[in-house]
Amino acid sequence: MALRGTNQEFGRPYNRRIVLESIRRFGPIARGDIAQHVGLTVQTVSTIVRELEEQGYILSVREEPKGRGQPPTTLRINPEGGYAVGIHLTPLGIDAALINLSGDVIESIHREAPSPTPDLAFEAIGAMVADLTGRRAGGRLIGVGMALPGPFGVESMSFVGPTTMAGWKGVPLRERLAAATGLPAFFETDMAAAAMGERLYGLGLQRSDYYYLYFSVGLGGAMVHDGGVLRGAWGNAGEIGHIPVVPDGEPCPCGNRGCLERYLSLEARGRWNGSDAEWVAEVAPVFRNAIAVIENLFDPETIVLGGLASPQLLERLAELAEPLHNSVSARKDRAAPRILVAQGGQHAVLRGAAALAVSGVLSPRFGQIFTAKRQREGDLLNGGDIAA
Ligand SMILES: [Zn+2]
Repeated sequence: MALRGTNQEFGRPYNRRIVLESIRRFGPIARGDIAQHVGLTVQTVSTIVRELEEQGYILSVREEPKGRGQPPTTLRINPEGGYAVGIHLTPLGIDAALINLSGDVIESIHREAPSPTPDLAFEAIGAMVADLTGRRAGGRLIGVGMALPGPFGVESMSFVGPTTMAGWKGVPLRERLAAATGLPAFFETDMAAAAMGERLYGLGLQRSDYYYLYFSVGLGGAMVHDGGVLRGAWGNAGEIGHIPVVPDGEPCPCGNRGCLERYLSLEARGRWNGSDAEWVAEVAPVFRNAIAVIENLFDPETIVLGGLASPQLLERLAELAEPLHNSVSARKDRAAPRILVAQGGQHAVLRGAAALAVSGVLSPRFGQIFTAKRQREGDLLNGGDIAA
């Protein structure tokens, strides 16, 4: 079990987050079982649970009596306890969804916006968020999370070329998002948001160490380890699309030649004159190599193939990658297939982005430990100010 409590000084918001997450993943669940899952005392869990219940984030339900004695009370997420908006910005357009605390997509909207400028995008986002939140007037709005292609902060790679948001260099994303929506704002790379969405609502429910290969306009990936996304020193771990795989291959806007995403991405598919089937057959050898690289680097339980490409295309790619190369993953005792197609659905990125806002607001200090340079937020449950 990956969720463990802590007795460290910074532990309270962290403990609250993992208790809330345990309830979301395993509810209805009794206090004692939560304590066992997260390694905290029942007393600590009870204190946190009381707080979460008073705030309306969770519901306690008395079980039907089954014989003598008081039946136990179990806890579950209150789906209507709050809403967050997930935004997904791509070089093709903008998606937005209103998502409840259970991760259900209440409403979603799409706006065509090829390579939008920041002014155009934030104006559209402001209107989309107002539209979505207006449909749940009176509900508690927790915040907004935005996912967009990375990497961030690398002069010669960020916001350069057709697979990134060209022209977005130097844009203060968090401030602009907060100003456009009037909500506490967070942002994340799309691949990490998708991996998180899959972890919370898809295959990741049963797994804690897997690699999420994010097949989008570009190609990215995220190693989910112990239930969290491995980020690297600057938060950009996972830009697998820019691993050079073909010597003297196709030039890439990043300055290198033969980068993986020049062959394996929706952008590459768009440059191919032919059918999906022909394209998949063409790129299968490159994909097979990529799988061996990922497996030997990370030793994942499995590689989850997801993103914006259609499930049919991903299924076909997984099929044609067989037989896979030998690697540390070619074990006889493995339970899962080496490649699985994601089950988080088309909304994985939006749900992951919304979840970012929920955990960012409900346990801000926890978020800071893992994400450099995110601005300190108020603590909603402790009555702190939210800097919007
Ligand atoms: Zn490149």
